[in-house]
Amino acid sequence: MTYQGSCHCGAVEFSVEGDLPSEVMECNCSHCRRKGFLLTFVPAGQFTLISGAEKLSGYRFNAHVIEHRFCAVCGTQPFAEGEQNGQPVRAINIRCVAEADLDRIKRMPVDGASF
Ligand SMILES: [Zn+2]
Repeated sequence: MTYQGSCHCGAVEFSVEGDLPSEVMECNCSHCRRKGFLLTFVPAGQFTLISGAEKLSGYRFNAHVIEHRFCAVCGTQPFAEGEQNGQPVRAINIRCVAEADLDRIKRMPVDGASF
């Protein structure tokens, strides 16, 4: 299957090949806790940006290896671009996927604050 997500104003839309995750990462680092991210990681090849490339801004911090993408219009941060084991990945903010039932997806705590 494929699922779709968007920023709040709708300028940025994306789709992800694959099933909705049964669990997501909830991290307590200084960045994630402020933005309330619930994340799932997918290979970059399964991610398609449908619209909004021209509206996307980016934010990097710490080691600057992850590009946290956000909509310059509404400020929503629907996904991030990074690498895992040398392969490009996308971190999907599942809160931006309207069809995801957030009450039924298991939250896996990640102690990012200690990394
Ligand atoms: Zn937006």
